[in-house]
Amino acid sequence: MAKTKNEATTEGARELTFGGVWNYAPSLEAVDHVTIAKRHDLFVGGEWVKPKSGQWFPTIDPATEAVLSEVAQANDKDVDAAVKAAAKAFPAWSRLSGEDRARFLFRIARILLERAREFAVLETLDNGKPIKETRDVDVPLAAQHFFHHAGWADKLDLLFPGQSPRPLGVVGQVIPWNFPLLMAAWTIAPALAAGNTVVLKPAETSPLTALRLCEVFQQAGLPPGVVNVVTGDGKTGAALVRHPGLAKVAFTGSTEVGKEIQRAVAGRMVELTLELGGKAAHLVFEDAALDQAVEGVVRGIFFNQGHVCCAGSRLLVQESVHDLLVEKLVRRMQRIRVGNPLDKNTDMGAIHSAAQLARIRELCDDGEQNGCTKLQAVCELPSKGHWFPPTMFTGVSMSHRIAREEVFGPVLSVLTFRTPEEAVEKANNTSYGLSAGIWTDKGARILWLAERMKAGVVWNNTFNRFDAASPFGGMKESGFGREGGRQGMRAYVRLAGGLLPG
Ligand code: NAP
Ligand code: MG
Repeated sequence: MAKTKNEATTEGARELTFGGVWNYAPSLEAVDHVTIAKRHDLFVGGEWVKPKSGQWFPTIDPATEAVLSEVAQANDKDVDAAVKAAAKAFPAWSRLSGEDRARFLFRIARILLERAREFAVLETLDNGKPIKETRDVDVPLAAQHFFHHAGWADKLDLLFPGQSPRPLGVVGQVIPWNFPLLMAAWTIAPALAAGNTVVLKPAETSPLTALRLCEVFQQAGLPPGVVNVVTGDGKTGAALVRHPGLAKVAFTGSTEVGKEIQRAVAGRMVELTLELGGKAAHLVFEDAALDQAVEGVVRGIFFNQGHVCCAGSRLLVQESVHDLLVEKLVRRMQRIRVGNPLDKNTDMGAIHSAAQLARIRELCDDGEQNGCTKLQAVCELPSKGHWFPPTMFTGVSMSHRIAREEVFGPVLSVLTFRTPEEAVEKANNTSYGLSAGIWTDKGARILWLAERMKAGVVWNNTFNRFDAASPFGGMKESGFGREGGRQGMRAYVRLAGGLLPG
């Protein structure tokens, strides 16, 4: 297919596209499984309490812009009450045997799986991501985090031998909108396993699954105050991280806000972990299995509409296979089905918010204005809601904003390299360091590259694979600390000394 500079794709592309709108008429069968309360209060001390602010704000379905529910706006006093409830619950919870804490976590995981369909539908409605992903990734992986960490709860002494691991106290957790349930699970599960209590602040635009998780906590009989959820905007998050009652802050979100939080906790005896943004490089060598690489690259950038911190947003391809790989990618990109997130055949759902859509458009415009070639799947998009088609830019260099800044959308930038050394240099030429992907047939090259890649996670001949047992986290401006696995538990305990390093 012909490439057109600064223009949408050609007629050839139109033939290959899926043609037509995936009408947004939510399947009643799917929606039947989830009833959404008109209003949600705050979850404090095991009960639903009205916000002291007396205010609620709407959360919408990004695919239709319909209001799903109103959610409480927590102010400083609400946050204070939540931290106090968590502090009150801490002594009894932390003194519980690990075995007993594990029982609660196993129970939560099981109930979450029993209610999987409801959580998948709710997450899809509130976030805009396709049901295929919430059903197969978000919900099962969230449950896996509770199962996995239940296993650590009674084995902390084996995990940190001779170091008398002890819980920290009340943990304040602030999470983003791109994986609302999963991020809640991956911060709450290790905190509880280690004997801490929690105050969680979900993102303003996707709070519903974290709130529904509170029902699961109640159903599991989790003691009141062990987990508290305060909803609100950035001000609520800021009130939480400044609260003097916290022993630790766990933040997942943008690098910009991460730095603000770092300043907010400076000078206080508070532990901090930061899981921030990324600009991952996907390295494809000429000896790679190209069709397999195409699938990996597509998964790397179009999964979750590209709203993924570790998205493979920069494709570095060896010059000799550039044209062939781009051609294959364009064909594949045009077969991505964009539309109704509740349709189980949909591959890409709605862009999460108007603000995020504006950001994606701005960066794409910048790429076009600065001489990059835009290749975009031709698709009619629903008239309501926030949508953006799968997009790829060729002719990109490291000086372009689309190659440097986190787009956080379905936009791939293609760059080239000639030698492995050049590939490493370009891949590491970013302020971020969260993830990277390597595609080559040579095992020795994988090891050589993986050692040199400045990224917390390096995938080889695959991409965007997650597991609760595998530590996840970044370097440089992608933050510090790990979530998941043995390393993830380290952030939730105080070690009283001993022979082994922590
Ligand atoms: P964000 O704007 O940084 O917001 C994250 C959370 O922080 C939200 O709950 C937000 O509340 C809250 N917040 C905003 N300002 C705050 C402040 N001054 N003090 C305390 N909390 C504050 O990020 P986002 O747009 O929701 O999420 C996208 C970002 O998250 C991307 O950069 C992505 O790479 C990153 N991310 C990283 C990982 C990882 O593991 N490394 C995983 C997922 C996402 P509001 O929602 O009300 O603004
Ligand atoms: Mg929403």
